[in-house]
Amino acid sequence: MVRNLDLPRSVADNVNVTDPDIIARYCRDWTGRVVGNTDLLLRPRTHAELAELVRHVGAHQEKILVQGGNTSLAGGSVPLNNEILLSTERLVTIKVDPVSMTANVGAGVKLADLQFEIARYGLAFGVDIASRGSATLGGMTATNAGGIHVLRYGPMADNIVDLSYVFGDGSTREPREALLKDATGPSIQRLLVGSEGIFGIITSVTLRLLAQPQHRLVAITPLQSLEEGISIGTKLRGNVAAINAIEFLGPEAVQLAPSNPPWPTSPGGALLIEVLSEASVFADQLDELELEREWIIADDPRRITDLWSWREEIPGWIARVGKPLKLDLSVPIDRLADLYQLAQTTAREAGVQCYCFGHLGDGNLHVNLIGEDHLLEAVSHAIYRHVVKLAGAISAEHGIGTLKKQELSIVQSAVERRQLAQLIEIFNPGRVINPNVMMDY
Ligand SMILES: Cc1cc2nc3c(=O)[nH]c(=O)nc-3n(C[C@H](O)[C@H](O)[C@H](O)COP(=O)(O)OP(=O)(O)OC[C@H]3O[C@@H](n4cnc5c(N)ncnc54)[C@H](O)[C@@H]3O)c2cc1C
Repeated sequence: MVRNLDLPRSVADNVNVTDPDIIARYCRDWTGRVVGNTDLLLRPRTHAELAELVRHVGAHQEKILVQGGNTSLAGGSVPLNNEILLSTERLVTIKVDPVSMTANVGAGVKLADLQFEIARYGLAFGVDIASRGSATLGGMTATNAGGIHVLRYGPMADNIVDLSYVFGDGSTREPREALLKDATGPSIQRLLVGSEGIFGIITSVTLRLLAQPQHRLVAITPLQSLEEGISIGTKLRGNVAAINAIEFLGPEAVQLAPSNPPWPTSPGGALLIEVLSEASVFADQLDELELEREWIIADDPRRITDLWSWREEIPGWIARVGKPLKLDLSVPIDRLADLYQLAQTTAREAGVQCYCFGHLGDGNLHVNLIGEDHLLEAVSHAIYRHVVKLAGAISAEHGIGTLKKQELSIVQSAVERRQLAQLIEIFNPGRVINPNVMMDY
């Protein structure tokens, strides 16, 4: 029996999906670890339609779980308690304003589609992530996504000019003309960045765009150890203004590749960097910095994509080994090697497989654990405790979702928890939207 929301027939016919086979495709997360269930999927086409749905759902004491591209690695994107699933996949307008260099995009626009559209104007967007083919700008805003270019452009929060939303209480803010500066008091809409849907649903985002870089190269060098990678990365960040990405490819992860890498086997894995300059200029800089060593350098688009694939395909190779528990940790960069060692040792001693990679330039390590569930729990708790000791964060860019609620409760003070709960009750009373995400109270 499908839930009756008393929607006008004209709306219900267009937004309701009740076919269990179709719904099942939305109820499993990217890792396959988190599987939910629901009997109703809503797919609104406009901000107004979405607002109407939220009001009807609230009036019927039902709950909504919002889904963008369903690439969450924190278990936040599938309905675990039979919430109504609301997908933003049909909110896909893209309006580019080449004068203000902004784009207003529907929450359901996939990052790759935005990149394709703005390239026609010679423009680019600062945030880029490997899940670009599925992740949506609404989901990326809701999780304050980071990705490979954070050290130059910051996470989503630094690239958003404005956004429109529907709160759980039914109140809304509509998109408006792009304003590049606005200091008229605190911004309520900013609260939604990184909120993972606990206040409401983002319906569109206005993004700051950039001119496309004229030059771009990618270089990979094999490492003896992560410490060596940190030392090279620090030299490059401090001296090469055009540095765009500094990434770590852990040795255990590289070994999962279906073919041999184009660099010699190395006990410390490899360092991948992206630089927005000409190869000859970069070669001179390496010389000056006394960083001449084995570098594989690519500066044409096809070879750049090939080299990036050694970093971006790692999550897929890991997924072929098993269903990983994904820890997304950040620490001050000079403590990254300490964290890496601790993760490897703790996992090895417990008989758990551990594959690491990450955004070295941001002190962000992705630790992927595969093993029996009770072992994963013990290993991950030991690693989280160590992260706290190192003054790090239990989530650098993936968010809390449903999988890290327990850890959040450890790192948040009682006052912070109370204040967050109070904010939820202001904007999303009764937790109509995303009731199980981020915290329970
Ligand atoms: C291979 C791979 C690589 C990845 N690399 C990175 C990376 O480098 N950096 C990074 O930060 N992340 C990365 N991720 C994680 C993921 O892609 C990001 O968290 C992304 O921002 C999620 O976007 P989404 O549209 O898929 O959101 P979903 O997964 O659908 O949802 C994520 C959360 O946001 C909420 N939400 C979604 N849309 C909205 C909305 N419109 N309004 C309010 N709440 C909403 C959901 O309820 C959920 O809690 C990666 C994931 C994969 C699978």
